[in-house]
Amino acid sequence: MPSNQSNITTIVGTQWGDEGKGKITDFFAGQSEYVVRFHGGNNAGHTVIVDGNTFKLHLIPSGIVYGEPTSVIGNGVVVDPKALLDEIAYVKEKGITPKLMVSDRAHVIMPYHIAMDGALSGHQGDLAAGSTRRGIAPVYADKMFRNGIRMVDLLEPDVFREKLEKGYAFSKGIIEKTLNQSLNISIDDIYDTYSIYGEKLKSYIHDTSVELYNAHKSGKSILFEGAQGISLDVDHGIYPYTTSSNTASGHISIGTGVSFRNIDRIIGVTKAYLSRVGESPLPSEIHGNSAKSLRDKGSEYGTTTGRPRRVGWLDLVQVRQAVRVCGLTEIALTKLDVLNGFSELPICIAYDVNGSHITEMPASLTQYRNAKPVYKSLPGWADLPEKVWEKGYSALPETLKDYIAFIEHEVGCPVKIVSVGPQRHETIIR
Ligand code: GDP
Repeated sequence: MPSNQSNITTIVGTQWGDEGKGKITDFFAGQSEYVVRFHGGNNAGHTVIVDGNTFKLHLIPSGIVYGEPTSVIGNGVVVDPKALLDEIAYVKEKGITPKLMVSDRAHVIMPYHIAMDGALSGHQGDLAAGSTRRGIAPVYADKMFRNGIRMVDLLEPDVFREKLEKGYAFSKGIIEKTLNQSLNISIDDIYDTYSIYGEKLKSYIHDTSVELYNAHKSGKSILFEGAQGISLDVDHGIYPYTTSSNTASGHISIGTGVSFRNIDRIIGVTKAYLSRVGESPLPSEIHGNSAKSLRDKGSEYGTTTGRPRRVGWLDLVQVRQAVRVCGLTEIALTKLDVLNGFSELPICIAYDVNGSHITEMPASLTQYRNAKPVYKSLPGWADLPEKVWEKGYSALPETLKDYIAFIEHEVGCPVKIVSVGPQRHETIIR
């Protein structure tokens, strides 16, 4: 197990999510004193296996499963209080007393946000991103409209009622007049139910920015746990086929109140090929039998839905952007074992857009829709030596090391963690 060499470590996805962040987080979470989420909501999800015990989490940081670290839900996260209470009950059932703090400034997902989310997808048609319909986009929109309700408001009856009147009327108008759906829950029902949620969550609600500031000053180790991946970032991703939050590491400062000047180590988790849930063009996508065999080898099926994920070859245009925007100090390259047995491995190094080669992600949807992958094919490898993780990096096949060196050269960032299997020990640290 690696030591937390630096005080503040960050883990982010460099693709479309599902890169294997859970396994890499697992490496660091157990020895961190705080594990913190900084964006998104219960639309994330990973599986953590500890001592044969499987935990499926959507909102609470994965540090919770180790008992020792304090798990923090930062102000940049949006919180469905019912989902949070259910997840607290779930970890308690598994024998864990949650050491959990939720920012008093985190925005609350209300029933009208969930209702609006369903109606919005129909309205957006071909531009719909494939929402999880958990109210994430509408709650972030309400935050910016300054119609939002924050965790602290649930504890202040008068302010809660005042804000709810405004937020409810606004959303009801959009749902019923613009989106032609009905909102079948009364303001009084919401007020009563969410006041009870507030009461139940009261002991977890804190000023987490101050808590983390003091933790950092006293030398405690902090791990920031990103969800989704860079191409889903609402600013830097393939907008509008993105999530509704900033997945890039820069959002840590805003989403937790911890200054970016304090972050030492930023690890970008990159899967050795691509998978994508949801809509949008995908230049290096592969289809047919080759897609099926890659999907089967990599178990690329939705964890809750079982739906086949779209798959493709590694796209370095995307990873290059992650290195630049997130300021990655290193890459953790995962699922290399899934590529065993390919005689040749294409890597997308640029896009051909109407005859011009571009090496950076375009903002233009027209360009992205017309982007054809420019591949460099590298020789593959047959198999990995038995228990290669015990033998170390030098025991990897030469062609695999060349594959890694090529990636490092193209994106300008070292690969320091090499993952060759789902289990914690199936990992090589360089
Ligand atoms: P996240 O969404 O980025 O957190 O992705 P997950 O942590 O859910 O990872 C997706 C899946 O890949 C999980 O089932 C992991 O166990 C698995 N996984 C992670 N790393 C490796 C690896 O190196 N090889 C293989 N075969 N599976 C891996």
